[in-house]
Amino acid sequence: MVSAPTGPGHGTTTSLTARHAVVVAIGSSALLPDVTGLREAAPWTSREAAAASEVPGRLAVIGGGVVASEMATAFANLGSVVTVLARDGVLPLAEPFVGERVTKSLLEFGVAVRDGAEAATVNRNGDGTVHITLTDGEQVEADELLVTIGRTPNTQDIGLDRIGLKPGAWLAVDDTLRVVGEDGALLGDGWLYAAGDVNRRVLLTHQGKYQARAVGDVIVARAKGEAIDDGRWGRHVATADEHAGPQVIFTDPEVASVGQTAAAAEAAGLRIRVVDHDLAAVARSALHAKGYQGHARMVVDEDRQVIVGFTLVGPDVAELLHAATIAVVGEIPTTARCRCPTWAVPETGSAITSSPTWRFTDTSSANADLCRTCSCSTIRPKPFPVRSRHPRSGHIQRRPRRTPAVRTHARRRRRTYPSIADHRLRPRQSVGVMVPKRRTPQLAKRGSDPCRVDRRAEPSTVIPARPP
Ligand SMILES: Cc1cc2nc3c(=O)[nH]c(=O)nc-3n(C[C@H](O)[C@H](O)[C@H](O)COP(=O)(O)OP(=O)(O)OC[C@H]3O[C@@H](n4cnc5c(N)ncnc54)[C@H](O)[C@@H]3O)c2cc1C
Repeated sequence: MVSAPTGPGHGTTTSLTARHAVVVAIGSSALLPDVTGLREAAPWTSREAAAASEVPGRLAVIGGGVVASEMATAFANLGSVVTVLARDGVLPLAEPFVGERVTKSLLEFGVAVRDGAEAATVNRNGDGTVHITLTDGEQVEADELLVTIGRTPNTQDIGLDRIGLKPGAWLAVDDTLRVVGEDGALLGDGWLYAAGDVNRRVLLTHQGKYQARAVGDVIVARAKGEAIDDGRWGRHVATADEHAGPQVIFTDPEVASVGQTAAAAEAAGLRIRVVDHDLAAVARSALHAKGYQGHARMVVDEDRQVIVGFTLVGPDVAELLHAATIAVVGEIPTTARCRCPTWAVPETGSAITSSPTWRFTDTSSANADLCRTCSCSTIRPKPFPVRSRHPRSGHIQRRPRRTPAVRTHARRRRRTYPSIADHRLRPRQSVGVMVPKRRTPQLAKRGSDPCRVDRRAEPSTVIPARPP
């Protein structure tokens, strides 16, 4: 039974009786720490920072997580003098190189990053200036204070005490999102569910929506007495929360990650291999931006030979996250045969995207050896099988001849996306070094393409368009 709120605008109490289940999806709010004078100083939370109509001259930020890093980047770009008080460092839950790169860029933007700094007292003067005293006695002065130390569930006044739970507590759930008590046992016969931030699994919009879909399906299935698909990745569980929640942090440079970090995977008892890659060594990063800097890390579960985590940092790396998420969610075996040019050469850590603007090429001998094991010998694309079986009759059939229309289409495609012209390239010696097969009239014509890459000379050399 649920009582609707009374008070201004309501006036009545309505009782509803749920026949199958109740889902709590009331989200979370900004958490304010117990720091003397903090509440009286009326600090900003993420809500006020996002809705600000004026840029404070000096902004102090308590916290070093996602919101702190994003807001420090934003307000520094808007002209504030920003001080970040990061007790546990910047982005401490991400791979260590992420925090290092984001801290470096914040410092370059003029942000003062105080690692290990913890606020002891806060005081706002009559003129509006905020004074923060740190635990080491140092003082920080600012015109506005933003507090971003985490979230707290909105469960304070929904009557949790009436069902044996603690008001204001996160609602712990099992994988089918049924609320469990402190002892891990189901509440009653499992009628109470929790989805979204309030269960603290992953505090992200898309994961909340994923849980909402799962919780709807499982409630219907249970109500109908149907079998519950509660295996890993099953329809009625939200296991992707633990294994494959993708996330982008909109700092400069951007951070994109999916799955587990190396530390988290090790803590979970996995035997892992870490593959690091300098994104500046990717030929197409030079086309993306001059002096591009970035880094990628892939975490491989050695026992199952699947990718369990991927983290990227660099300008516009969010573009690569989808491909990495497919690799993690699809549990692409790193021993799989390379299916060039469909994109996956996970065992090399080299090609993880089909994007025409990006291609990871790794020329290290170790990876070249690994790539040879996949029997395509290099990352040379093999666009179509020459022979295949007819889907119905099962007869072996040869690849159909290309019609003039198909040839024209392919020609146009090559002009639009130079990387697709890799189909025409063959390997010279090892992975990553490609030379044209022969200089065909079509290739000669591509002199008018402003993005033409001369791979014979240097993979990342851009040849400017010739005047017509
Ligand atoms: C600054 C910031 C930036 C973020 N950026 C991103 C991002 O880039 N990408 C991303 O994926 N996620 C982001 N998130 C996280 C994302 O906003 C949350 O994960 C998401 O909103 C959670 O959805 P939810 O439905 O669980 O809760 P909410 O969206 O908070 O919805 C809860 C709803 O319940 C209502 N409610 C509360 N109490 C009661 C009650 N007692 N009775 C009835 N109704 C009640 C609330 O009014 C609200 O409408 C960000 C969060 C913050 C704070």
